[in-house]
Amino acid sequence: MKKICEGCIKNHVLKEHLIEANKSGDCSYCDNNSVKIIESEILIKFAGDRFVSSLYPISEATPYEAGMFFEGSNDIPFDEVGYIIQELEVGHETFEDELSTYVFEHSDCPDDLFIIDYGENDNNSYKSKWLQFVRSTANKHRFFNKDAKEFLDSPKFR
Ligand SMILES: [Zn+2]
Repeated sequence: MKKICEGCIKNHVLKEHLIEANKSGDCSYCDNNSVKIIESEILIKFAGDRFVSSLYPISEATPYEAGMFFEGSNDIPFDEVGYIIQELEVGHETFEDELSTYVFEHSDCPDDLFIIDYGENDNNSYKSKWLQFVRSTANKHRFFNKDAKEFLDSPKFR
């Protein structure tokens, strides 16, 4: 079973999870031996399940959401989950690929255009957060980046 070390994980939530596992051994991703590690399968499930539950296809967005999304990002292509994960800088490239594969396999979204579901569609903080999110995407090369990272870090999922 593959194992991944602290040094190969950048996202701090995942890093904390790895450290809490309190195991040491050799990393399957880099050349580090006798370091803090976790089975990568465990960490992929931990992160992957959050993605699966927080992404839904644009085809399921409300007109309100879709409208804002498209308005804010005329020239920005929606990206597939692999790019989202890359933009989040989760960690080692191979690990990110494995995580993307997991999300694809477990997601019931048939298309590759995703929206993050903040789960609070009716309240104002959701709306302002969403607007902020859309605005941030309009100025950047790819869409899910900083705000998506905050989402992944949300205490709601701790
Ligand atoms: Zn490593």
